[in-house]
Amino acid sequence: MIQFKKNNNLSKNTVFDAKKDTTISLTQCIKCSAKLEDSKIIGSLGVCFYCGYHFKQPARQRIESICDKDSFVELNSNIVSANILDFPDYCTKLENARKASQEEEAVVCGLCTIKGFKVAIFVMEPNFMLGSMGIVVGEKITDLFEHALENELPVVGFTVSGGARMQEGILSLMQMAKISGAVKRHSDAGHLYLCILTNPTTGGVTASFAMGADIILAEPFALIGFAGPRVIEQTTRNRLPEGFQQSDFILEKGFVDDIVERKAQKKYIAKALLLHSYRKELMYDSI
Ligand SMILES: [Zn+2]
Repeated sequence: MIQFKKNNNLSKNTVFDAKKDTTISLTQCIKCSAKLEDSKIIGSLGVCFYCGYHFKQPARQRIESICDKDSFVELNSNIVSANILDFPDYCTKLENARKASQEEEAVVCGLCTIKGFKVAIFVMEPNFMLGSMGIVVGEKITDLFEHALENELPVVGFTVSGGARMQEGILSLMQMAKISGAVKRHSDAGHLYLCILTNPTTGGVTASFAMGADIILAEPFALIGFAGPRVIEQTTRNRLPEGFQQSDFILEKGFVDDIVERKAQKKYIAKALLLHSYRKELMYDSI
């Protein structure tokens, strides 16, 4: 069965270049309502200068800020989704998502160094159907874990997702088991998996590989859960406590290990790698 097609015409390393946009556009902070210039938000790693709210950050910007300069090498950039169930308007939605995100899929995977430590890394893309998980996302992340297992590398992941991609039906739900299997094999071999949950991380992604990490971190103000608060309230007919499913709340309940601000994440990850014996002598020389 053909589950996805490969498009060999795509550039292997599409780099998000904010400088191309010369018009000044403003974004209003959801938390404090301050109006901020988009270019300045990018300069501050997508964090509001006034209240510290963390905006959704495109995958390439995140890679640029987390990976050591020029160390990122992308894997499987040429796998793209196909409308295998003939779901109405899915092809148009995919095309729009590609335009909106400048990415070919909802996750970017590759190898890089972080403060000198060699890692396999995946970063989900919020502007591609809100990081929804279809067959290609499942295949790319599974392949990354398999590559990491083969090469004895830790995995660092950044999640942002509305959950499984409904246009791919049960095939998207199957990715939960597929990725979780790869995470388990990587874990059984004694390798570290560190995952940073960003706003929002929900649905099948939360219910599988996002919560399967050895170290689970969250960004400030991130919504993290399975079903959204509105759905839970409507189903249970109960009022939810204040801050339900927000980072602080789930840290208190023990679902995540720590909340780490974006500007501190690179150092935090490097410390975790050092503590888990990913010594510099284990690094590849080629990157
Ligand atoms: Zn703000």
